[in-house]
Amino acid sequence: MTNLAFHIPTPSLEISGSTLRFPVRRIFCVGRNYSEHAKEFGNNEHEPPFFFTKPADAIVQSGATMPYPPKTEEVHHEAELVVAIGIGGSDITTERAVTHIFGFAAGNDLTRRDLQATAKSQRRPWDMSKGFDNSAVIGAILRQKHIPEEAIISCLVDGEVRQTGQVAQMTWSTSDIIATLSSYLTLAPGDLIMTGTPAGVGPVAPGETCTVEIDGLSPAVFTYRGLSLGPQPAGFGCRGVAAYQTPAPQSHVPRCHRLSSPQPYETTRAQL
Ligand code: MN
Repeated sequence: MTNLAFHIPTPSLEISGSTLRFPVRRIFCVGRNYSEHAKEFGNNEHEPPFFFTKPADAIVQSGATMPYPPKTEEVHHEAELVVAIGIGGSDITTERAVTHIFGFAAGNDLTRRDLQATAKSQRRPWDMSKGFDNSAVIGAILRQKHIPEEAIISCLVDGEVRQTGQVAQMTWSTSDIIATLSSYLTLAPGDLIMTGTPAGVGPVAPGETCTVEIDGLSPAVFTYRGLSLGPQPAGFGCRGVAAYQTPAPQSHVPRCHRLSSPQPYETTRAQL
């Protein structure tokens, strides 16, 4: 026992085929690791990837039903291969990188795209657009050292395919990423790296279910709790609300905002 004033929970993830769980220390994310996605945002496809982070307790285990996040009208899905680090180190070589891998998982780098666009235009940090509560939905970790180059990575919203890519399309391989990231800082056991998303990012609306699938891995699935929404103008964001069963209330209602105070959400997060 240590003399901490109080104890805080350790976020963790399921490990396929094991009763043990993977404790999450940090979450690193790679930007623009698929050239087609880089071009979606008008960026140079040859620009080296860069890194940003999410807090460890942004983790949501696959299967959660959770509230639509505050301060946004445009949450986007980003289907990503996640690398779990089992052995830490700094200045890891590309050749040795594989020995530091604990396993792989499917993940969703949820993004408040409207806040990110504002941050970009104002040259401000991305933390509030990337590192919010429940912004990293991650499936069970499979203990393996390699992921096949031909593995397909896809994202479905209510069963409709929105993103498709292949691990082979990654500009930087998982080994390249581990080598580069470990040149900036010391990687540690429990670190996760979300390795970037293929083209086709787009919105997930309240009431919709979003699934990230990668061949050979457990899917990362979540559902946003459905809300009653006001009349929806045509245009960007809030796609899918036409499918709502709940009649729109007569009063003025801000688009895609909560109508009531947040309720406890049914999620496996309580087990973390
Ligand atoms: Mn991403």
